[in-house]
Amino acid sequence: MQEIKFTINGKDVTGGKGQTILEIALKNGFDIPYLCYHPKISKTGACRMCIVRVNEVMLKTACTEPAMEGMKVITEDEEIIKIRKGILELLLAEGDHNCLYCDANGACELQTLVHRYNIDQVAYEYPKRNREIDYESSEGLKRNENRCILCGRCVKACGEIQLSNVWSFTDRGGHTHLTSGLYEKIGDSSCVKCGACVQLCPTGSLSFQTVLGRGENWELTKESSICIYCGVGCKIDYYKNKEGLLVKTIGHDDGPNRGHLCVKGRFGFDFIQNGKRLSKPLIKRNGVFEEASWDEALDLVASKFIEIKDKYGPDSIAALSSAKCTNEENYLMQKIMRAVIGTNNVDHCARL
Ligand code: SF4
Ligand code: SF4
Ligand code: SF4
Repeated sequence: MQEIKFTINGKDVTGGKGQTILEIALKNGFDIPYLCYHPKISKTGACRMCIVRVNEVMLKTACTEPAMEGMKVITEDEEIIKIRKGILELLLAEGDHNCLYCDANGACELQTLVHRYNIDQVAYEYPKRNREIDYESSEGLKRNENRCILCGRCVKACGEIQLSNVWSFTDRGGHTHLTSGLYEKIGDSSCVKCGACVQLCPTGSLSFQTVLGRGENWELTKESSICIYCGVGCKIDYYKNKEGLLVKTIGHDDGPNRGHLCVKGRFGFDFIQNGKRLSKPLIKRNGVFEEASWDEALDLVASKFIEIKDKYGPDSIAALSSAKCTNEENYLMQKIMRAVIGTNNVDHCARL
């Protein structure tokens, strides 16, 4: 990529020809606000929050404007602040933004910008939207269109990342709104519950069913791990509340999944905190399962293996392993079958 040089706020920066002002500015540590832009999807240029001043006179959206050699960019001045505040006030005026009962409270990009630009009242009288609130049709997603700012991130997340094309915009002008499928409820649409749209939504318009009543966003703590469901090994950030209960998952960018998840990785974690989950080994004695120690259970399994092997030979035993185990566990499983039992009868659920 051909290198170009220009200045941002008087500081020399370099970037590649074809990159936008925003891409280069973010890479160089400049803070330009945005709502519709997201690095994982194509550029939209809808929200206008990222306007910057170019060569002292022109106002341009930094997310769509290609950087040019010798350009002089100013990221914020009095007029830009006024415009950004105006945009935020208009967004607040037409939606239902009572943060008190919003799932995104404390983790909302719109809320963050409202605080940043010190907006304490909305000057405009505008008829509030009264659109669909769909909290029940899907087991994975919740939707409150009255908090939608029409940024289009969900449309692109579904179309460009998940390739499912569930979301689109319908109608025109002030009547423009988001729709799933052919005006279907999200649970009745072709949504496969990957959650990519929720992960990219900058407001509480889309959220996960799992967060309901499970704690405030600012109380959640994050731990990164690897999904247990298949061999891709997607990296996931698990969020847990004060009681240690898992609340939601977010795909981690630094993994083979590059932030994306499928329905299993996204929502398949509830079994971890299911009260019926076995936490101790059980041994069946006289037809009834009884709790046992790990030593007792493992001794019993070993004695049964020896008994079968002595009576019917090593090839009468086989082991089927799982993609839910780590590579190391799968290695140990085949090792114990080959070296201890003496059979090559090993297989794996992910082979077929
Ligand atoms: S979407 Fe953001 S600004 Fe709107 S109610 Fe929810 S937290 Fe508040
Ligand atoms: S959850 Fe996935 S498939 Fe469903 S609408 Fe969102 S991005 Fe599309
Ligand atoms: S639902 Fe969220 S991501 Fe989709 S357009 Fe509305 S605010 Fe943007």
